Amino acid sequence: MNKKVTRIGVLTSGGDAPGMNAAIRAVVRTGIYMGLEVYGIVRGYAGMVENDIIKMESRSVANIIQRGGTILKTGRCKEFFEVEGRKKAYANLKKHGINGLVIIGGDGSFRGAQVFSNEFDIPCIGVPGTIDKDIAGTDFTIGFDTAVNTAVEAIDKIRDTMDAHDRLFVIEVMGRDSGYIALHSGIATGAENILIPEKETDIEAILTALMEKERRQKLVNLIVVAEGKFGGANEVAKVIKERLPDQEVRVCVLGHIQRGGAPSCFDRLIASRMGYAAIECLLEKRYNVFVGIVNNRMHYIPLNEAVKKKQRISEEWMKIVKILST
Ligand code: ADP
Repeated sequence: MNKKVTRIGVLTSGGDAPGMNAAIRAVVRTGIYMGLEVYGIVRGYAGMVENDIIKMESRSVANIIQRGGTILKTGRCKEFFEVEGRKKAYANLKKHGINGLVIIGGDGSFRGAQVFSNEFDIPCIGVPGTIDKDIAGTDFTIGFDTAVNTAVEAIDKIRDTMDAHDRLFVIEVMGRDSGYIALHSGIATGAENILIPEKETDIEAILTALMEKERRQKLVNLIVVAEGKFGGANEVAKVIKERLPDQEVRVCVLGHIQRGGAPSCFDRLIASRMGYAAIECLLEKRYNVFVGIVNNRMHYIPLNEAVKKKQRISEEWMKIVKILST
């Protein structure tokens, strides 16, 4: 494992996130600048298993920093869960002489990288790319800022029509296991209630508050729900309709628009910094870590820690939601 890294592979894996292209660009250009040869692995770990590997040059990543999605494509790969699949992947990397990897993805992809780096002599560096911001050890993940701003823009538009008709809206945002998009977009759009997987939901308290608001003639109400919570927005609306039949309730599921689009300036910046830092890690033999940003400084967190911990939502956020919605 102490051999010098000379030829690296870069891949995007798992859920796509805006800013992944900016990270690929940073990895490719920094790698080449530092004298490495760089290969792109197509469709995440599937490209490793199926030998879908292409040589990258500086020009291969021209004009992509502003583009959503990922030019390398991403994917989920069942075979990589099995040791046989990982053996195939290793053999393909060897065929190309690849002796270092940069994995841009979420916690699942990091789990895969950790298993792989334990089994084979290929150092892996993770770059956190996920709209969910659910990785402990970094203040930000690539794609979160863009996704949350997309959600805010959409909710603002819905609020206009909501206000015109004095309606209650239940809006579902992404985050099956993580409430960050719901929390941030909900606070930023003045939601009365934000339902997230990390916190118990007291539906009775919400219903009582709605009744109270009806009495006070606060007719516009906005509830933001993370998709994994309570069966999503449709379930929440169903309960409200059953219990408050006079209340007009509308549902909007924002869905995949939150994944797409041009990355925000912030996501492009952190992607560029993280991609650069990933190459530094390989050159300095700081192996099997992922790069994070904490208090605006780079941090290097062992992959196995990323796999164990999740980012926690502070109680203070929830207090703010409660006070500001009165
Ligand atoms: P994300 O990185 O967005 O969290 P996933 O959880 O879908 O995405 O993981 C992406 C891929 O990483 C999986 O399809 C699989 O190929 C690989 N992977 C995830 N967990 C493991 C694991 N425990 N062992 C091996 N490979 C894994």
